[in-house]
Amino acid sequence: MKVLKFGGTSVGSAQRMKDVAKLITGERKIVVLSAMSGTTNSLVEISDYLYKKNPDGANEIINKLAMKYYDHVEELYATEEYKQKAKEHIKSIFDLIRTFTKDLFTLFEERIVLAQGELLSTGMVNLYLNECGVNSVQIPALDYMRTDKNAEPDPVYIKEKLLKLLDQQKDADLYITQGYICRNAYAEIDNLQRGGSDYTASLVGAAINAEEIQIWTDIDGMHNNDPRIVDKTSPVRNLHFEEAAELAYFGAKILHPTCILPAKLNNIPVRLLNTIEPKAPGTLISNATEKGLIKAVAAKENITAIKIKSGRMLLATGFLRKVFEIFENYQTPIDMVTTSEVGVSVTIDNRKHLEEIVDDLKKFGTVTVDPDMVIICVVGDLEWENVGFEAKIVHSLKDVPVRMISYGGSNYNVSLLVKAEDKKRALQALSDHLFNN
Ligand code: ASP
Ligand code: MG
Repeated sequence: MKVLKFGGTSVGSAQRMKDVAKLITGERKIVVLSAMSGTTNSLVEISDYLYKKNPDGANEIINKLAMKYYDHVEELYATEEYKQKAKEHIKSIFDLIRTFTKDLFTLFEERIVLAQGELLSTGMVNLYLNECGVNSVQIPALDYMRTDKNAEPDPVYIKEKLLKLLDQQKDADLYITQGYICRNAYAEIDNLQRGGSDYTASLVGAAINAEEIQIWTDIDGMHNNDPRIVDKTSPVRNLHFEEAAELAYFGAKILHPTCILPAKLNNIPVRLLNTIEPKAPGTLISNATEKGLIKAVAAKENITAIKIKSGRMLLATGFLRKVFEIFENYQTPIDMVTTSEVGVSVTIDNRKHLEEIVDDLKKFGTVTVDPDMVIICVVGDLEWENVGFEAKIVHSLKDVPVRMISYGGSNYNVSLLVKAEDKKRALQALSDHLFNN
């Protein structure tokens, strides 16, 4: 069985929901849906007002959002019977949200509010399918998707529960489930973090050992560079999981980075497809490597580089540990690392504790900080014994000042750190040299 995930814009209007319905009928499958686009942001805003003890502010957004949903009902359903069912579904959800405007509001209530977007969209699409005569059923994510005490998904629990739920609905032709939402180790309603619907699809795919996981968006697969910035980009047809993981993490917006691992571990291909052009081949992500090819470039902004220079690094064991420990103490992940005999440079994208980190690092050496940097990540078959590839990448940037270069961490990427103001010309130069001649 295949797992298909549709993002917020793919279910962003009544018409788009109808288009999705057309795409998912036919052979039996599991369909994971996001909330309609903009809904989760509105739910965040509602929560924000409630945290600030401003129920009027919250109510204004709740009313606006509810109106939008009632408008979709008129357009989506043909019969009075289903219009009524949909209105009842929407009403019950907004009634629940409104109960939180009257009482103490904490993280616990916020997570319940945030879960309503996916419950709205899946309920509406399922009703529409039923109205069209499709034998579809909902498989509630809150009954099988679960995280453990470390807030990591619990694959054993997920598999056991999901298989049981599917088995109870053996006769259904189509299964609809919510992306993003789950229960945590304490059985409270929780979520897999913003953008987490891709993760749901991947976890569901792994649990049922799916034939394929499809991520449907409104872009034609992953491009070899950022089409908003660079001229002449083209879609990449095949990517290795590790190439996709690097691209997703380093800026390619099309796929959430967490989604790669469950699929990779279970060797389930992930296909990126386009709802606007459903017949287009998209991008296939799998464990297969295409030999000798540089595939794509992505960029991640708002990076800060930190250099620690120390005479004491020479022959010192434990120096790197001490440096890394400081970042760990402030829960600040490091993206890139380069080392020399007298110093080490690292990059971070979370500047929240920058001041304290720099302060602590000063115990070990002279510290310099370069803000406003960009990581440019080049992926492809960059196995170290292949000759010429790293040279070609570096040569492409011969006119751009490069602050750090990282190669050899995996067989699939080279990362380079440049100034934000050089991002565009660095990306263009890489496209021109690597792909367009
Ligand atoms: N609706 C959630 C969000 O907007 C999850 C998702 O769309 O992937 O973050
Ligand atoms: Mg998304």
